Amino acid sequence: MIYLDHAATAPPSRTVLEAQWPYLTQVFANPSSAHGPGRAARAGLDAALAEIAGVLGCRPGEVVLTSGGTEADDLALLGVAAAAPRGRHVVTTAVEHPAVLETARALGAGALGEPFRVDEVGVDRDGVVDLAALAAVLTPATTVCSVMLANNEVGAVQPVREVAALCRAVGVPLHVDAVQAPGQLGVRLDDLGADLLSVSAHKLGGPRGAGALAVRGAVPLAPVIHGGGQQRGRRSGTVDVPAAVGTATALRLAEEGRAAGAPRLAALRDRLVAGVLDAVPGAVLTGPAVDARLADGSPARLPGHASFVFPGLGGEAVLLELEERGVVCSSGSACAADSDDASHVLLAMGLGDDAARTAVRLTLGPTTTPEEVEDVVRVLPEAVAAAGGAALLPA
Ligand code: PLP
Repeated sequence: MIYLDHAATAPPSRTVLEAQWPYLTQVFANPSSAHGPGRAARAGLDAALAEIAGVLGCRPGEVVLTSGGTEADDLALLGVAAAAPRGRHVVTTAVEHPAVLETARALGAGALGEPFRVDEVGVDRDGVVDLAALAAVLTPATTVCSVMLANNEVGAVQPVREVAALCRAVGVPLHVDAVQAPGQLGVRLDDLGADLLSVSAHKLGGPRGAGALAVRGAVPLAPVIHGGGQQRGRRSGTVDVPAAVGTATALRLAEEGRAAGAPRLAALRDRLVAGVLDAVPGAVLTGPAVDARLADGSPARLPGHASFVFPGLGGEAVLLELEERGVVCSSGSACAADSDDASHVLLAMGLGDDAARTAVRLTLGPTTTPEEVEDVVRVLPEAVAAAGGAALLPA
């Protein structure tokens, strides 16, 4: 099997599993217990928090462990909105992951009492946020602004530093959903100018159902999960120490591998995109071109991300034919895989409703090889033909 669905979840890392093993077996005590075994678990937890903070450029006390990216995103928006609602106004973009978008909409629908006003700022054809439109809706009374670092469906990298400058100018806390970024882009809060930042372990070879929200100490945050007051009261519940250790190890490995890994992924991605467009001329790359750059000169597309639409074909039909030929990938987003809805990201980018149902996303990771990329390029025309797309192939 050729696994090109790293953006959905990454294969488990052996190093991560080995780091977790002692905490799954011998060092099992509750890290809140005062006895020796409890203190041993607490030491492992503290080391994990320090490791996560090291990668995210914050203090260990600013890390809140969560059940993954979704909970981190929910906590960021709901937590800030409950603690400091100010003018009850949320600013986000039209291409966020549902973990952010639906939470913002829940606030808009009155999840915390009087409804919040929600602005979902539009994007250009590449999926990049319209900074002028964002600047126009931000006000000093805005509760929170949430902009993702990299889009899961089309790989567009957002100009987060510029968004941070706009937020800073009006004193609005900025949340960054960085779930797709570690190992491919830097994710330090201080570097990005973020006040809150979400990560998820399973995208990095870490445990499923584990992640973290980094929150600057000065940002007021109310808990979403109430209980025994663990994690300084910001997220109650007995802390899952193996998950913390796994998250920390996965994040550290991703960051350590980034300098060599990101260019390697970009080279594989470039070959994949060129090969696909050559073999299937009717396919259209969605999101930024592979050589596009942001204003600061950094790449505008995630290195490991390729996404296409196949006009006239169902994305699902292409996926099925690819799987018949040993290649697994997904339509725009794994999260929407069991829905027939057109992608909200592609619609926001201005694609028509029909085209927005034909997305195929091929995402690469550290285990992807050049041979696998060549195999995909070879079998794709057959898969497209079998899915009924002969018209997209060379004449
Ligand atoms: N945010 C983005 C950009 C994602 O891609 C995902 C997962 O697909 C999430 C949030 C949710 O993360 P999790 O699966 O850990 O809940």
